Amino acid sequence: MRNILLVDDDPIIIAILQKKLIEQIKNINILIARNYKEALKHILNNDLRIDIAILDLNLPDVRDGELVDYSIKKKIPTIVLSGTKISNMRKDILEKDILEYIAKDGVNSINYTINSIKRVLLNYDTNVLIVDDSSVQLSILKDILEKIKLNVITATNGIEALDILHNNSQKISLILTDFNMAQMDGMTLTLKMRETYQKDILGIIALSANDTPDISTKFIKIGANDFINKPYSPIEVITRVNSNLETLELFEQTRDMANKDFMTGSYNRRYFFEKGEYLFNNAKTEHKDIAVAMFDIDKFKNINDTYGHDVGDVAICEVANILNNHLRKNDLIARFGGEEFCVILENITMDEIKKLFENIRKVFEENIIHINNLKIQFTTSIGICYGIEDDLEKMIKVADDGLYHCKNNGRNQVAINIK
Ligand code: GH3
Ligand code: MG
Ligand code: MG
Repeated sequence: MRNILLVDDDPIIIAILQKKLIEQIKNINILIARNYKEALKHILNNDLRIDIAILDLNLPDVRDGELVDYSIKKKIPTIVLSGTKISNMRKDILEKDILEYIAKDGVNSINYTINSIKRVLLNYDTNVLIVDDSSVQLSILKDILEKIKLNVITATNGIEALDILHNNSQKISLILTDFNMAQMDGMTLTLKMRETYQKDILGIIALSANDTPDISTKFIKIGANDFINKPYSPIEVITRVNSNLETLELFEQTRDMANKDFMTGSYNRRYFFEKGEYLFNNAKTEHKDIAVAMFDIDKFKNINDTYGHDVGDVAICEVANILNNHLRKNDLIARFGGEEFCVILENITMDEIKKLFENIRKVFEENIIHINNLKIQFTTSIGICYGIEDDLEKMIKVADDGLYHCKNNGRNQVAINIK
């Protein structure tokens, strides 16, 4: 949950911002203040970390941006949204560590503000790797990117960068690399990164003070997404980084639209077979065992008939939530259709599979969904194929046979390798 502080004495501005934020951003808590005193109360509340503040300059009980001073002092990322003309503003406000000054001039400025808020909130969960052999340059760039709340990882040469990229536990979205570096230059690094990661998965921005003609063209041709000349201004870096991250997110949204089920956010059947074939072939080549498990809600028709389709939908989404919470990050979870899910797990023993799926069955059995005044409870049947068969279809067939075995034997149970 992210906390957003909105401070403005104009109730219309507050109402519009609040409405748009709720419509467009999930998991947020909006704090509202109409004057300096109310704003201070929120800022001084130690139980609450404010993730971003949108501040008006002139408030009834204070003038000249004192609240901005206070917000910056408290290290709150701050956007100033004000009707005050820049020429009439206290001179030092723009030089302060505010993220942005946005002039209030109608719908455009409101939409712009919402986008800036979205960007900063997304940046909190975005990892960026910067590569430069100069520790001074590295630290300047790190400061700029941390100001817009990105998580910054640093590397001092190409080899270290590749190592981090391949082994980092969290996804890296964007890399900013210098050109001239000892051991491996930025161009070789870009080429190496492109062997594994395409442009729509990993963004690369090259930076260079090198005046070789066509250096930016060469970088773009070998796969960089963008190029920044050194020396740069902080605002240029911020604008380009944010713009590249936005493009990468659009790519991700397009991929999700093709690969994921809209209702549950799980992968769809099409993607399951694409990724599943890859996982199966890997396991077969390496003589490893995998597990394919088929889940189906028991007597799901009763839920639909008793409480309606909308409640049925919530139950289906709950299956996705429980599977996401109890399986590992790399396990493939897909909604096969209706209330049926199929998952594939690698690197797991038969013993672990037995324990894991018996536990998940129990979690479903004990789980209660509260909707309005209703308490919904349901069980699931789980058919599993463990080992390796001739092809993925055969493994799915064995899992499916297991599922029908469960259904015929009273439901709410797990069946492994029933053929
Ligand atoms: P069993 O224990 O044998 O699995 O019984 P069941 O009632 O779960 O039987 P079945 O699997 O045939 O029921 C599937 C029902 O799911 C039929 C269909 O109307 C409903 N359904 C399919 N897709 C959706 C959906 O997206 N939302 C809702 N609410 N219902 C759906
Ligand atoms: Mg069912
Ligand atoms: Mg079914």
